[in-house]
Amino acid sequence: MNPTVTDATSAPNGQPATTTGAPSGGNGAAGRSGAMVLVRIRRQDAPDKPETARWEEFAVPRRPNMNVISCLQSIAANPVTTDGRRTTPPVWDSGCLEEVCGACTMLINGKTRQSCSALVDKLAHPITLEPMSKFPLVRDLFVDRQRLFDDLKRAKAWVPVDGTYDLGPGEPIPQELNDERYPLSRCISCGCCLEACPQYTPANKFVGAAVISQVRLFNDHPIGKALKGERLEVMMDEGGVADCGKAGNCAEVCPKDIPLLESIAAVQRQATVYAIRKFFTR
Ligand code: SF4
Repeated sequence: MNPTVTDATSAPNGQPATTTGAPSGGNGAAGRSGAMVLVRIRRQDAPDKPETARWEEFAVPRRPNMNVISCLQSIAANPVTTDGRRTTPPVWDSGCLEEVCGACTMLINGKTRQSCSALVDKLAHPITLEPMSKFPLVRDLFVDRQRLFDDLKRAKAWVPVDGTYDLGPGEPIPQELNDERYPLSRCISCGCCLEACPQYTPANKFVGAAVISQVRLFNDHPIGKALKGERLEVMMDEGGVADCGKAGNCAEVCPKDIPLLESIAAVQRQATVYAIRKFFTR
C-alpha cells in the first residue's frame, strides 16, 4: 500500500484508528526540531463518500512560529504527498485566525482544539489532523456546526431587545453579577465541549454544555430574564440539562476556561425551582 495514502480505518502508523484517537508512535519531541513538519490528514471527499476516507501525509517546510493553519495553507498551495503524489488541496473551515470564531476547531493529535492557536513547536510530531466527530462532515477537516447554532436559537440565547426605538440606558448590573457573567460571555461556539462530551451524540438531542451555559448567561441578565421561563422549558425538555452525565470533559477542553460545570449546576437549580413554582401556580 502507498505509505502516504492509507485507508481511514487504519491510523497512519498502521494501528487501528479511533474516532478521536490520533495515531501514536511519532517522533514526539525529537521531531519538533527538523527542517520539515510532517502532517497527516484524515481526508474524505464528501459526506456521502465514506469510501474515499483515507490518511494522507505531507511534509511542510518549517518556518518560525508556525501554527497548524499555516501548515494547512502551505499544503493547500502545493498539495503533494510525501511520496510525490499530487492530490486535492485539503479543505477546512476558518475565520478570525485568533481563537475567536471557533471555526477552525478540529482534532489535533487527538485533542479537540483550534488550529489557529495550535503552535507547531508545541505539538508532538508527526501532527495528525482529523475532523470533529460529533458534527456532520462536510469534507476533510470541515464539519457543519449548525446543530449548535440551532440549539442556541431553541434556547433563546439572547437578550430580547426591540431595536425600533431608543430604550435608553439598560438596567445597571451589579459588579458581582458582571464578574459572574463575564466568563460565560467568552464562549466562541467552537464545539470543543460537545466533541468531548460522552452524552452529546449525533443520535440524540442533548444541547450540551455550551448552550446550557448560555442559558445561565442570559437568565441572569436583568432584561434577558424576561425569557427565563421559556429557556427553562427548553432545558426541561428532551435533550435539556437533565441529560448531562456530569463527565466533566467539557470544562477540561474549553479553550476559554468557562466554568461549565458551575453553569450546568446553576441551570439545574433554576429548572428545579421553576418546575416547583409551575406546579404550585397552575
Ligand atoms: Fe467552545 Fe467553551 Fe463555548 Fe464549549 S463552552 S463552545 S468549549 S468556548
